[in-house]
Amino acid sequence: MMTDIGARAARMVRTDKKGGFPAQQQDPPGVTGDMTPVPDHGEQTYVGHGRLEGRKALITGGDSGIGRAIAIAFAREGADVAINYLQAEQVDADETCDWVTKAGRQAVQVPGDLRDRATCDQVVADASKELGGLDILVNNAGFQWDRGRGKDGLEGLEPDDVDRVIETNLVAVIWMCKAAAAQFGEGATIINTTSIQAYDPSPGLMDYAATKAAINNLTVNLAAALGPKGIRVNAVAPGPIWTPLQPATREVEKVETFGKDTPLGRAGQPGEVAPAYVFLASTADASYVSGTVLGVTGGGAVF
Ligand code: NAD
Ligand code: MG
Repeated sequence: MMTDIGARAARMVRTDKKGGFPAQQQDPPGVTGDMTPVPDHGEQTYVGHGRLEGRKALITGGDSGIGRAIAIAFAREGADVAINYLQAEQVDADETCDWVTKAGRQAVQVPGDLRDRATCDQVVADASKELGGLDILVNNAGFQWDRGRGKDGLEGLEPDDVDRVIETNLVAVIWMCKAAAAQFGEGATIINTTSIQAYDPSPGLMDYAATKAAINNLTVNLAAALGPKGIRVNAVAPGPIWTPLQPATREVEKVETFGKDTPLGRAGQPGEVAPAYVFLASTADASYVSGTVLGVTGGGAVF
């Protein structure tokens, strides 16, 4: 692992000031190894400071992208980590778990499609059993479809895609929260993953953006419902982040320009998002933070 100064230097070197990416596409859910360039999840840079010592976290979509970066950061902060993912992503899940194990923490795999409610219950039960408890739930699994055959807005929407977006991004989050909250004690926390799309929606992501706005709303209500039990609930709103989701669901032209329209002029890397989750998960740092959304957007406004 690098020193803090070494980590900052590495981050500056990797910054692509021009923004955008080489033309590429994958089929969903997409895998890390087929991306050019491969994203930076903080493997060489994230330095833990014991902020999550002894905690037990379940991260959905923890195989790749933002979820992998969260798993690495949480493990280096001292947490044991269970990840949920789709079976087709086993290669990515294995690599994430290798990083968790290398950090000296327990890594547990709980694959399953969260569009099925019984699977949500089972994933929470299995993660809790394997880890010997659970006190952090990160709802990070998500799906979008931005290939409406060149048509944005209502014309680009197809029923199967819309169902998949809403069931994955919103319905599954509700059932995951219900299952986890049933066994959470005081000091436990939920962190949802929303998006800049909740505030500044794109016509090509009409259904996706609506689910993210709904997650913001849900986060406020969950914080109100669970606060009296000493459970904090927050959300992180990433801007454009270079993950498998992008080449797996966007048209080529949108990959090439991805992130260029942000005030910082580039997409972010997953490793640049993970510290926001660490902060919100930390009982010491975020003890009075609940019901809010933390933006990691490269400058896009989250209000
Ligand atoms: P990613 O593809 O690496 O991760 C998404 C994960 O969701 C997949 O790895 C997959 O395991 C999981 N998933 C999808 N459908 C599922 C299902 N039915 N059941 C179980 N798991 C399922 O991409 P990412 O960008 O890291 O996405 C993580 C989260 O970040 C998503 O909620 C996404 O909406 C959100 N987000 C991403 C960006 C971005 O620009 N990448 C921006 C804002 C918000
Ligand atoms: Mg994945």
